[in-house]
Amino acid sequence: MMVIKQIKNVTVRRSTTLREALSILDSTGAGMLLLVSETEAFERTVTDGDLRRLILAGMSLDDTLGSLSQIESFVIYEAATKREALNLMNQHAINHLPVIDSARRVVDILDRKDIDEQILLSTPHMGNAELEFVEEAFRTNWIAPLGPNVDAFERELSDFVGVKHAAALSSGTAAIHLALRLVGVSRGDRVFCSSLTFAASANPIAYEGAEPVFIDSDDISWNMSPVALQRAFEAARKEGWMPKAVVVVNLYGQSADMDSLLDICNAYHVPIVEDAAESLGAYYKGRASGTFGRLGVYSFNGNKIITTSGGGMLLSDDKALIDKARFLATQARDSALHYQHSEIGYNYRMSNILAGVGRGQLRVLEERVKSRRKIYDAYRAAFSDMPEIQWMPEPEWSYSTHWLTACTIDPAVGLSSTDLIKRLADELIEARPIWKPMHLQPVFSHCAYFNDGSESVSDRLFQQGVCLPSGSNMTEGQIDRIVSTIRKILR
Ligand SMILES: *Cc1c(COP(=O)(O)O)cnc(C)c1O
Repeated sequence: MMVIKQIKNVTVRRSTTLREALSILDSTGAGMLLLVSETEAFERTVTDGDLRRLILAGMSLDDTLGSLSQIESFVIYEAATKREALNLMNQHAINHLPVIDSARRVVDILDRKDIDEQILLSTPHMGNAELEFVEEAFRTNWIAPLGPNVDAFERELSDFVGVKHAAALSSGTAAIHLALRLVGVSRGDRVFCSSLTFAASANPIAYEGAEPVFIDSDDISWNMSPVALQRAFEAARKEGWMPKAVVVVNLYGQSADMDSLLDICNAYHVPIVEDAAESLGAYYKGRASGTFGRLGVYSFNGNKIITTSGGGMLLSDDKALIDKARFLATQARDSALHYQHSEIGYNYRMSNILAGVGRGQLRVLEERVKSRRKIYDAYRAAFSDMPEIQWMPEPEWSYSTHWLTACTIDPAVGLSSTDLIKRLADELIEARPIWKPMHLQPVFSHCAYFNDGSESVSDRLFQQGVCLPSGSNMTEGQIDRIVSTIRKILR
C-alpha cells in the first residue's frame, strides 16, 4: 500500500515540464506518474514511454505535459475487492493500479506484488533440520517405509508427549483405523464419536463395517460434551448394547475435558480412542493432549501444526497394541520365511524420508505452538472492541495450541459466517467454516446423534463459526491486512 505522501510525490499536472516529469520518474523509481487536473481529479497515468514518444514527436524538455492526449487509464474504485483489482491487472498486463474515490482523487496505488499474495488458512512451515535428516536418508539409501528416521521419530515423539510406545504411519486416518481394529471394532458394532470434527475421525468406523453414533460438543471447549456422552451411554444401556469404543476429538488444538469423559467411559468399561490429529503440542491439566485414550492419534498432514507432508502416529502405553499396529501396518505378515498371512493387513507405514521431515519438525513444534497462540492473541486484541466476534474459549484446564483461530459471528451482525468467508476470499484471504458436524453429513444421515437434551451446540458453532488464517509463518503485516479487511467487511 502506497502512502498518500508517496502518491503526492508522483503526481504531475499539465503545467509540469517534461524535464520535471522525467526527473520525478528517475528519483522515485515509481515507474509511473499520476496526471491530475486542477481539481486534483485523476486524468491518466504517464509512463516514461509516454514521455519518450513526446520527445520523439519533437517536443523539448522545457515543454509541458499540456499536449498529452486524453486517454482512459485503468483505475479502480475504493470499494472494489482485491480480486477485482487483480483481475483487471491480469486482463491488461499492468502492475500498478490507481485507486480513486468518488471525486476521482487518487487515494492509493495498488502494486501487484502486494495483492497477488493470497493469505492461506495454514501452510507448511519448515525448520532448519528437516533437510539434513532427509539427506541422510538419501546418503544411506534408507528410502524404505522403515529405517533409522522412522525409529527415531517414534522414539522422539513418544518421549516428547510422555507415552511409552508409538508407531509412525502413512496418515492420521490410518492411525485411527488401526486404533479401532486394535480395540476390536468390527462389523455391526457401534462406536461413539464426536460430531463436530473432520470426516476422517468417523470414516474409519465405517471401514470396519461398524456404525458411528455422534455426540455433541459443549460450549466450554467445543469438544465432546460429557453430558451428551452420558445420555448416549444411558440410552445404549436401556436398549441393551454398548459401543465398542469412543472416538474423542480434540478440536483446533484444544483438548476435550478428558477427566470427565474418562470417568464416564471407565464406568462403562469402554476404551477411548483419542483423535489428537489437531492437538499435538496442547496440554490438558499439564499433560500432553493425545495421551489420555487407550490409543492416541496424531496427524502430520500438510495443514497441521507440524507436517511430514502426509503422515500420522499411533500412540499407547500398551506395547502389545503398538507391536500389533506395526504388524497390521506392514501387510500383517506372519513371522515365517514364506509369505504367510493369517489376518488382513494394510500398507500403512511411514517412509523413512518423511520421518526425517517429521524429526526436523518436532524440533520446532514448541516454537510453532507459541506462534499460533500469539496469532490467536493478536486477533483477540485487535477485535477486543467487537463483542459480536466470540472466540473459541480456552478453559482453565486447557493449554491450546490454537492450531486454527476459530470464532463465531453473532447473527445479529446481519452477515453470516458464509458471507464473511466469501467476502474474505474476494480479498484473497482464505478463511474456512467450522467443520460441518458429522450428524449433518449426507453420508452419515442414518446415524444416531446425542446432545445434552437442550440445543445442539455443534449445529450453532457450524452456522456461526469461522476459522481465520493461522499459519505460524504469517507475517504481522498479513495479520494487519486480515484484521483491517474484516473490520471493513463488518462495518
Ligand atoms: C487431519 C485430521 C485427521 C486425519 O489426519 P490425516 O493425517 O489427514 O489422515 C483426523 N482427524 C482430525 C480431527 C483431523 O483434523
